Amino acid sequence: AIGDSVLDVTTLVTAGYFDRTDPDLADLLDADDWSLLATYPEKVRDLRRALQDFLRHDKHAGQQERRLRQKAVLKRRDLTFVEPVLARNYTDFYASIHHATTVGSMFRPDNPLLPNYKWVPIGYHGRASSIVPSGTPIVRPLGQQSPPDGEPGAPPSPPPFGPCKMLDYELEVGAVIAGGNALGEPISIARAREAILGLCLVNDWSARDVQRWEYQPLGPFLAKNFATTISPFIVTLDALEPFRCAAMERPSGDPRPLGYLSDDEDQRAGGFDIVLEVWLETAKMTEKRTGAVRLSRGSFRDMYWTFAQMITHHTSNGCNMLPGDLIASGTVSGRESDARGCLLELTWQGAGPDGKPLPRKPVTLPTGETRTFLQDGDTVIFRAWCEREGFRRVGFGECVGTVAPPRV
Ligand code: CA
Repeated sequence: AIGDSVLDVTTLVTAGYFDRTDPDLADLLDADDWSLLATYPEKVRDLRRALQDFLRHDKHAGQQERRLRQKAVLKRRDLTFVEPVLARNYTDFYASIHHATTVGSMFRPDNPLLPNYKWVPIGYHGRASSIVPSGTPIVRPLGQQSPPDGEPGAPPSPPPFGPCKMLDYELEVGAVIAGGNALGEPISIARAREAILGLCLVNDWSARDVQRWEYQPLGPFLAKNFATTISPFIVTLDALEPFRCAAMERPSGDPRPLGYLSDDEDQRAGGFDIVLEVWLETAKMTEKRTGAVRLSRGSFRDMYWTFAQMITHHTSNGCNMLPGDLIASGTVSGRESDARGCLLELTWQGAGPDGKPLPRKPVTLPTGETRTFLQDGDTVIFRAWCEREGFRRVGFGECVGTVAPPRV
């Protein structure tokens, strides 16, 4: 993506551009999604350079190249995007300590953070088949939900089954695996940073009422696997190099990570300084043309675990990563309440003096509407970018989804 335009690499492949400039690359681009990634970093970097050359050399280009450029550079608004890569595996982590603490306090006010959190990058295996590209409608899922609290001593009521009433988004950053590792061969923390091709935006849509009922004892299942939206672009780590930052400094008193998760270079530059925003546009806002409203703004600097630590931990038992696999960070939430990356946290007011949770505080929108969770017709838009003086701003594009009515 370049500004409002997109370079369609497929047009270059079809026109034989790479056959003329780099036949090896042409063969790789002709094969499946994963062949090129498996050669990372060499041929991936060659492709990046080739595209930069193609775009840069316009002035001196021959007529053939100029014509090709006109054909291959398209307006973004005219296009429908597909997933940037077909992930065969998807794992979702829980790397924001602020998210883990706030959510934990809803279930365990006295003990929000479980004792393993500061030792283990917590994650679960998600579902790759329901990863959808930005713009795909999100059908409200049906599911079994927590039964209502009955009178003390009364027999428990059965759980209701029906459309989710507590549909939520989760603002996340995804890392796309480049080359991967052989089964049985862990990726060391020193090598983990080279395992990532680039980053993208991920919306881990969540059915909270389903989640609350089903998550014990094995973790998320149908509350999460009905859809996961991925942004159409992967920003390569090469492009993100100027925006690396130190890993989040652990508060004094927190344990040092175990040896296999410790690396000086990762501590020095394993984080990414990415600004992340969530915007919401309801059907009424679309109709009244008010535009979308921003719900939150956070930073990826605030993550307790780095992607390198997540990948090293994931493969520490010998589990193999395949090229194109998607590793998501978990909800990106900051310390401040306006940096909370899901409605479950944004509308949470904590517990009252009696220790019981206060009622949720809905978000008020410019149309006068309120939201505690998402309604049909709501469009959720994630935006993100990196900015630093002396460098070109790098945007992540958008990760968008509109909630569609349930199919009942
Ligand atoms: Ca998640």
